[in-house]
Amino acid sequence: MTIEKESQIKPFLKKIEDEDYKHLLDMSPRLVKWYQKNKRPLPWRVLWNQHSDPYHVWVSEVMLQQTIINVVIPKYHDFLEEFPSVHHLANAGEDDVKKAVRGLGYYRRFSMLHEGAKRVVGNSRGKKSIQWPTSFKAWKELPGVGDYTAAALSSITLDEAEAVVDGNVERVFCRLFDVRLPPNLPVLKKGFKKLGNFCIDRKYPGDFNQGIMELGQLICTPSDPSCDVCPVQKWCLARKNDSTVSAPAQKIKKDFVNLDLNLVIFQKQGKFGLLKRPKSAKFLKETNGFFTLLRQGKGFVPDGFQGTFKAHPKLKSLGAVSHSITNHRLKVQVSCGDHKQAPKGQKIEWLVASQVESRLIANLDRKAWKLFIKETMTP
Ligand code: SF4
Repeated sequence: MTIEKESQIKPFLKKIEDEDYKHLLDMSPRLVKWYQKNKRPLPWRVLWNQHSDPYHVWVSEVMLQQTIINVVIPKYHDFLEEFPSVHHLANAGEDDVKKAVRGLGYYRRFSMLHEGAKRVVGNSRGKKSIQWPTSFKAWKELPGVGDYTAAALSSITLDEAEAVVDGNVERVFCRLFDVRLPPNLPVLKKGFKKLGNFCIDRKYPGDFNQGIMELGQLICTPSDPSCDVCPVQKWCLARKNDSTVSAPAQKIKKDFVNLDLNLVIFQKQGKFGLLKRPKSAKFLKETNGFFTLLRQGKGFVPDGFQGTFKAHPKLKSLGAVSHSITNHRLKVQVSCGDHKQAPKGQKIEWLVASQVESRLIANLDRKAWKLFIKETMTP
């Protein structure tokens, strides 16, 4: 059954609901066997095999949320060297955690990992060993652990049969059923979750989940999949119909939104002002950086900062930098000003230049700082 129109989704979902796709139950052990034989020895897999410590898997899952494997690997090693256990992470300072992941972006995920570590350690108080979550549901209660991460963690560390659905899984399922629609249609996503939960290998759920993702990353790639060496080719409709080019269709992309920002570097007797962005900020929540304003109408308003700030016409403009955050394309004006122009009612840390260098985490602040150095300190 080829699925080319949205009107065909409903009957497809009905069949999933009715567990009509029993043939996939034969596919699962085949996939698991392939994975067990061919899996890459990624550091978190090696560590899990050696120590069975959920911490090693958890850190990897958080890092991999927005970052590709090759970039994650060196950071993962460094992070574990600095915070070898969940105790070390729970007892670390927030700034040290952020410094350890500098360059990876999306820093809020690491604040939540840090919070989660404190909670895990806190929940274990008085007991000899750490009390890790004991189910998919319990994993999901930790900050920053959504459906996907909880499924990965509970299947790998607890052998719970909870399927993961990410872009790789969506593509593989689309091809197995010759679905020629965008794979990230929310209604399809829901169906794939059910399908995954139906056909997940009950004995090796973690290997099934990792296997289907590994398949998507290495064999069933977006263009030019290696069908001849694919362990699930027997069950694949797109291969049979010679339609791997059209199944799935292009993903629905979010439109980019253009926004203007203003970053202000305040100075006080050779020192520079850093503020912690509030939780309510639109961008870079809870990250130390420069005072940030968002365009509102013809003017700018502080991004999440409470208190008062009068936009001074005397702020000196240094130029602009471009930056992208998720689907926002930002044009960022960078200015500098005297501490008397700084917002009132804010906690500002005044640091010398070398301290600023080491404290800035977000690439946006680093770009602004680079521009500042070029414009004001380079002879
Ligand atoms: S046979 Fe080809 S298209 Fe089908 S799942 Fe395997 S690699 Fe993907």
